[in-house]
Amino acid sequence: MAKSIFSQIIDREIPADIVFESEDIIVFKDIFPSAPVHLLICPKKEIAAFSEIVPADWPLVTKALEIAQKLAKELQLNAGYRIVTNSGKDAGQQVMHLHFHLIGGQKLGPIA
Ligand code: 5GP
Repeated sequence: MAKSIFSQIIDREIPADIVFESEDIIVFKDIFPSAPVHLLICPKKEIAAFSEIVPADWPLVTKALEIAQKLAKELQLNAGYRIVTNSGKDAGQQVMHLHFHLIGGQKLGPIA
């Protein structure tokens, strides 16, 4: 199967504004931000979508969410922020590589 765009970012085959990286998680700025802060928190393991998470993946997902919370604190999003993951076609998922959007830095509208 072809590598996802996000795996290409992980492998430095395409550029991205990377703000955090560990052995198993990468965080970079969304190329089309929907708010002043719009980060993508992405486990390096190619999990296609939230719906495809298997039991052994949950520690990795927890790590991703811990990093999201830590970055939100560092970025002083004290008034609030949103963590979103789109899973599948009806949710409008564009990149089939599990990621969480961290969105904030302004008052956000309703989710849908
Ligand atoms: P999804 O719709 O899959 O939840 O979100 C995918 C997100 O990835 C979108 O917000 C889109 O703007 C972002 N994105 C797509 N391609 C690239 C890229 O090549 N680089 C970066 N930094 N973000 C991307």
